Amino acid sequence: MTEIKESQLHIPEGINFDCTGCGNCCFEWPVPATRDDFERISGYAEERGFDNKQLFRVLNVADEKLRVFSHSLEKRDDGLCAFLTADKRCSIHNDFGAEAKPAMCRLFPYTFTDTPSGTFASVSFAASGVLFNTGKPLAEQVSLLESRFALFKQLFPGLSLDWSEAQLIDGQPLAWKDYIGDEELILEKLEKLEPEARVEKSLLEEAERFRKRAVGAKLDNIAALTVNPKIIDQVLIRNLLILYFPDNVYNSGVCELDAQSVAREFLSEPKKVSFKHRGNEYGLQDLLSIRLGRLPRESADLLRRFAYLRIFSKLYFGPGFNYLSVIAGMHHLAVLVSLLRIRLKLELLYRKISQPTDADCLSILAEDTRTLERRLTVSSFGQESIAMLEILLLSPQRVDRVLSIAG
Ligand code: SF4
Repeated sequence: MTEIKESQLHIPEGINFDCTGCGNCCFEWPVPATRDDFERISGYAEERGFDNKQLFRVLNVADEKLRVFSHSLEKRDDGLCAFLTADKRCSIHNDFGAEAKPAMCRLFPYTFTDTPSGTFASVSFAASGVLFNTGKPLAEQVSLLESRFALFKQLFPGLSLDWSEAQLIDGQPLAWKDYIGDEELILEKLEKLEPEARVEKSLLEEAERFRKRAVGAKLDNIAALTVNPKIIDQVLIRNLLILYFPDNVYNSGVCELDAQSVAREFLSEPKKVSFKHRGNEYGLQDLLSIRLGRLPRESADLLRRFAYLRIFSKLYFGPGFNYLSVIAGMHHLAVLVSLLRIRLKLELLYRKISQPTDADCLSILAEDTRTLERRLTVSSFGQESIAMLEILLLSPQRVDRVLSIAG
């Protein structure tokens, strides 16, 4: 980890990024725009004969922390930004320079998490350069990161996370100083993981550091249900797949688990669970008929970097992610990696590929990781969903079984 003392900006090791010019971040999603962006870009738009009324939508942002955004730059009917050229370049950038783009476009894919130990820089896996680890290491882009951090603070001045609410498990508070030392050890292990290792197994093992502290807690306790635990695992997987991998990621703006309907599914005690994928239904036996084992090096490294950055940037527990506890959060992260492997299996079943090439695996996993990142960014769980995930995900036995379905 590279540290810059003056600004207390921590930069992750082994993470690279440069824009690949794929244009992917300029598709579908509207871009929040500040009043400055709106006024500056309206001028360019008029010069090009665009109708500003169609280009921008006025935002009425209720959240005080997001008040800085007055408009959103909408996408055209074909899903592309009006400023994206046929060769996937930003025409504002081409004609007026990078600093003329909307602030959010300049910030992407950098993200920053404020903590009592300083600010932790990260990058979004929605960007192709991050997915494929292309470009210069972040550790060599210090001044760029500092300027993006300054922009981040300008855009989100009121965004400070209250880590005093972090919990080891539900009901057991965890002081920051008791957390951060263990996190460092976990990150060190993930940094040194051998290239093809299964990172989700390491996460489950490393969660043990925290489980040891939850003395007296029952981590595998849903005694009121008589339904077979393996069926509960599958209902959980099925619902998380629907949640995190919707048919159209752009049209599903809100990401929330319907805890009551999941609970009803448990109570109906299903004998069999099926997983829908591209209009087909697959069962547990189909998933088990494919054994992925260790993935090819680049695919395994993608999953390792995804997990590493989630932990580094603390976007997996407490105020960093829907107020899950540390243990449920780390188990959830191991399950997320397993979901990516399960999606890979479903896609191989759908395409009837029995011997995937390294390139098949990487391209399938990369697109799903991009989708997952987008969904995690907009996820906002209510109390019922958090309570349900806490109960279901605390169990290391359950997570271990999910890992073996994804194996
Ligand atoms: S303004 Fe430029 S960078 Fe931003 S979404 Fe449009 S084309 Fe992409």
